[in-house]
This record gives sequence, structure tokens and C-alpha cells, in this order.
Amino acid sequence: MNTDEKIYDVCIVGAGFSGLVLAIKLARAGLLVCLTDLNRLVGRKILSTGNGRCNFTNSRMGNEYYYSNSDLSFIGDNHEQVRAFIRELGVFDKDLDGYFYPYTNQAKTIREALENEINSLNIDVYLDNRVTDISFENVYTITTNRTVITSKKVCVACGGLSAATLGSSKLGYKTANKFGMKTTKLAPALVGITSNEICLKELAGVRASGKVYYKDYSCEGEIQFNKDGISGYPVMCISRFIGFDELDKHLSDIRIDFIPYLDNEQLTKEITNRFQKNPSKSILNCLVGLCNEKVIEQVVSLSRIYGDTLVAKLDEQDIETLVYNFKVFTISIKGTKGFDSSQVTAGGVDLSGVNTDTMESINRPGLYFIGEVLDVDGICGGYNLTWAYTSADAAANDLIKVIK
Ligand SMILES: Cc1cc2nc3c(=O)[nH]c(=O)nc-3n(C[C@H](O)[C@H](O)[C@H](O)COP(=O)(O)OP(=O)(O)OC[C@H]3O[C@@H](n4cnc5c(N)ncnc54)[C@H](O)[C@@H]3O)c2cc1C
Repeated sequence: MNTDEKIYDVCIVGAGFSGLVLAIKLARAGLLVCLTDLNRLVGRKILSTGNGRCNFTNSRMGNEYYYSNSDLSFIGDNHEQVRAFIRELGVFDKDLDGYFYPYTNQAKTIREALENEINSLNIDVYLDNRVTDISFENVYTITTNRTVITSKKVCVACGGLSAATLGSSKLGYKTANKFGMKTTKLAPALVGITSNEICLKELAGVRASGKVYYKDYSCEGEIQFNKDGISGYPVMCISRFIGFDELDKHLSDIRIDFIPYLDNEQLTKEITNRFQKNPSKSILNCLVGLCNEKVIEQVVSLSRIYGDTLVAKLDEQDIETLVYNFKVFTISIKGTKGFDSSQVTAGGVDLSGVNTDTMESINRPGLYFIGEVLDVDGICGGYNLTWAYTSADAAANDLIKVIK
């Protein structure tokens, strides 16, 4: 038993974004709530979100921005509710082309506002307490490495396997399995990709716009090249598919279209015109402006043309090869950079075992799951924090109704 032999209404395992939102909503409604976290600080991960700026929601919202093995039609657009919740904590936001950040541009504003609210609501917080087991016999017993807590209901909000240094564990999946619930395969998502391609030595440090294709998936944006791989928004967004293929050893190559704003025919015409107008220019000079300069150098070299070759010496076949290499620049990949470098975990507690209106386990009444531990992952852009909020809100509504 916990030393004061309190029986909480709800014990929340994990004081990340979802757990903090839930604790605040329950305590505001007058429920006796506690939070446990293995870290010494609540909301540790929030500090690292959005490159330290915390992109907490997005005006383009809906289930099409999320992935799961289950039907996600229950996910709607609640970005205004997320904004209102953050605003109630005293934090003004700013809208950068639909991506919402705190006005301060600092993730720590959000973390501190959540912590202040937790403190002012007098919520018991068991920090530096790693939960090792959750069991049920009339009430729930939550065992940590330091204490034992009893509670009428439990909510597992302990996240996935991503970013271990910020606090992660397998507890959520183990708890689900222990109570007869299924978990799906797990893969790192929103993560960089590794590759041994020689061209990366030349492209390391380059940030170039383009459209990245992997099998049937594609995404456009700024691609970042490193000596051992690629990252950036479009790569991150498709990385979950690479993560799962890596598990199943079914990896394919990545293809990049560096000139997505022109189709093959238009690009052929553009290059042909440039060559005709400037026959005495070198190829590198003649192609300036089509895309990133370092990428042009790589495409020219891949097309087996010297950079100082005069365009008058090139023929239709050379143009065809250039067009192909600009539009189907192929990079063979080794896999992802793994869970530690990933922003989110794809897969998790199978939604078939959860009532998605309430987030309560169907098998085990009184046991709830919210946030990243569930089999829902969003693309880059505030979607994962919004999911953490959405699932916490659903659980809060049900818990308040059931307990009060
Ligand atoms: C670098 C980075 C940048 C990101 N940027 C964004 C962004 O800008 N926008 C966005 O929407 N999403 C972003 N994400 C994703 C987002 O942060 C997560 O999806 C979200 O925080 C998940 O919330 P959660 O509450 O479910 O889990 P978490 O935030 O992971 O919280 C889980 C908590 O449980 C604790 N815990 C785990 N196991 C135990 C245990 N056994 N006992 C006790 N405590 C335990 C952990 O310490 C942690 O505090 C980013 C993630 C990373 C890593």
C-alpha cells in the first residue's frame, strides 16, 4: 500500500503529455488522481518536441493524417479543443501556416504551464517511480520501484519505445498482454533513414526540396542529407513503412524526384530549350535554378557527364538520362535510425481491445490506455500531441461520468 493508504480514483502511469492532460481534466472535476513517472520531471519529452518549440496541433486535422492497423474513423478534428486547453493553462499560441506553437516559441512554456496546473490542483505526483507491474484484485495495485499505489481505475499513459533517453518502457504493452489484450508489431516512425550510398558523401549537409517515394507512399518537402543517411519532413513521414519493412526484411529503395513541379515531358522540354539557347555553356551552368546546386552536380555525374562539358556536345539520349536521374534519383537504404532516434512508435496496443469512445479496455474494466502506447501514429506536424490530447479527453469524459 502507499504509505498514507490512500485509494485513488485514478492512477495515471506516465506523466507525459497525455497523462498530464488527463490528470488535469480529472482533478478539475474533483477526482482523486495521482501520476507516476520514471523521470524526475513531468513532461520531460515535451521539452524536445518541435525542435524545442512544441508543435502541439495543426489546423489540417482528421483521421487521414494518422496510421493504425485498425479503423480510425473515430478521429475527428479537435485542434480547436487542443488550442483552448493550452490557452486555459495561460499559454497563447501562434499559427505558422496551420502549425500551432506556443507564442513564446518555447516548448518549456507548455511543460511548465502543465506542471503549474498539476501543482495548483494538488495532484499527487510520484516522480522517479518506474512502474513495474499493474494488477487487479477488487482494486488496482500499481507497483513501482519505490512504492505500491492502490487505485479504483488505472490509465496507462506510458508512451511507446521512442526516444528512450526521454523516458520509455515496454510496460504499456506488457500490461495489455497481461490482461488478455493484443498488441501489434512495433516500428520506429518519424525517424531518419540510414544508407551506404556513395553519393551521400558528396551530398552531406545539403537540404534540398523534392518528393520522396517509397513503394506506394510519397511525401514532398525539404530533404536533409547526412553522410550516413537522409532525414527531413518527407523522409520522416514515410519512415514508418520502412520501419515495418525492416522488421520483415522487405526493404526497397527510396526514389527522389528533385523536380516534382515539372513532369517528364515538361522537364525534357525545359532542358532541351536551355541547351538550344546556350550551346556554349557548360552543363552545370546551363542547369542552374532547376533544383539544389549540389544535387545538380550529383545528377550530372550520375548521368556520366563531366560538369564542364559544353551542352552543344550533348544529345537527346543525354537529356533523357538527365531527366530520369532528376526524377528517379534512387537511394538504396539500410533501414531506419531506430527507436532511440524516432519521434514516435508505430503500432502498439491493438484498438480492437479498446473502446475507442472511452479508451477503456474491453476485457478489463477500469483499465484505460491513452496516447502513443496505442496503435495510432500521426505524421509530422502536431498530430501526435493532438492524438495524446484526443485520447486523454475521451478517457477523461468517461472516467468523470463513471466515478462521479
Ligand atoms: C524529439 C521529438 C520531437 C517530437 N516533436 C513533436 C511535435 O512537435 N509535435 C507532436 O505532435 N509530436 C511530437 N513528438 C511526438 C510526441 O512527443 C509524442 O507522441 C507524445 O509525447 C506522446 O505522448 P504520451 O503521453 O503518449 O507519451 P510520452 O510523452 O512518451 O509520455 C510517457 C511518459 O511515461 C513515462 N513512463 C514510461 N514508462 C514508464 C514506467 N514504466 N513507469 C513510469 N513512467 C513511465 C515516461 O517517462 C514518459 O514521461 C515528438 C517526439 C520526439 C521524441
